[in-house]
Amino acid sequence: MDTGTLQQLSDIGKKAMQGCLCGFYNHPEKECTCPPGAVQKYLNKISGPLLDRIDLHVEVTPVNFSELSSDRLAEKSEDIRERVIKARDIQTERFGNKPDLHANAQMSPQMVRDICKINAAGQTLLQKAMEKLGLSARAYDRILKVSRTIADLAGSEEIKLEHLAEAIHFRSLDREGWAG
Ligand SMILES: [Zn+2]
Repeated sequence: MDTGTLQQLSDIGKKAMQGCLCGFYNHPEKECTCPPGAVQKYLNKISGPLLDRIDLHVEVTPVNFSELSSDRLAEKSEDIRERVIKARDIQTERFGNKPDLHANAQMSPQMVRDICKINAAGQTLLQKAMEKLGLSARAYDRILKVSRTIADLAGSEEIKLEHLAEAIHFRSLDREGWAG
């Protein structure tokens, strides 16, 4: 990788959101030196409507060098690519008669009702998550769309409880008192 590319990657990394002003919130080894309440105040700056428009929230803690360089058994990129292509094919077929639609994310609220059906146990899980996390109606649809994609990636025709649970997990920044 040349230095230009590295610089670009580094710039992208800096644009990713930090959990707090000092940057050490949730750090496994270093301590966050922000005064009490500052973390919450910082997070509140990122408004709900903005977070509602972001599909996947993932909290990442720094990885140390030994972990990065260890030979862990990870899924190969080619295998992941294969899986993604299959999931895209499923979606192309799903929206075959609608030329403007290519991905689950583009579904209208009515299509979400028709296509992202979940069983009674799923309804209960989602309802509980909505109440516990204080999620908006938009987040509700977002979770259903993401769970449909997770099911597509798993090659599953139905949205199973595990797919739904994973999708709920991706709304972590909606949690009330995330920094509490
Ligand atoms: Zn801090």
